[in-house]
Amino acid sequence: MVNQFVISSGHGKYVQGAIGILNEVTEARKVVNRVYEILTNNYNGAGFKFHDDTSTTQSQNLSTIVNYHNSKTRILDISVHFNAATASATGSECLYYSELTLSAKMSKAMANALGITDRGAKERQELYFLRNTSKPAILLEVCFVTSEKDAAAYRENFERLCQAIAKVIADNLGYTKKAASISNATR
Ligand SMILES: [Zn+2]
Repeated sequence: MVNQFVISSGHGKYVQGAIGILNEVTEARKVVNRVYEILTNNYNGAGFKFHDDTSTTQSQNLSTIVNYHNSKTRILDISVHFNAATASATGSECLYYSELTLSAKMSKAMANALGITDRGAKERQELYFLRNTSKPAILLEVCFVTSEKDAAAYRENFERLCQAIAKVIADNLGYTKKAASISNATR
């Protein structure tokens, strides 16, 4: 059996994330869905994706997401978020508990795909998701929902971004690309 992953979107249907020019929850779900599709269709990957559609409080949301991850057989946990700050803040970053090298690769891949600043890997051991998932975990901050520049770059390069994220995960888990005929299924 191939190495498996779990990828989930941050926040939830009833527990909103950041809202700026982009809505974090809405966009994180799109990224998770497309990355999952690429890993399981274009690559020989296998795993699980999750969106929290039930929690109504932030603490419930965090534990629901982490419980889902910990219930699956996998060797990597991935959480997709978008950042929020002042209008001038820009760039991609990737937060980690112990996975410095993987996080740095992921941050760079996202920034290159979007053509925005690579803010790099950031150790954040206090974050609930990173602390409580029982496998190596990374938390992606794709770009800033509060930045016109980032939002435009994200809209323009969505497919590139998802392909880049999928490639970093595929390389980490030892997946290979399937034959080209499968790519008819891509948008
Ligand atoms: Zn978030």
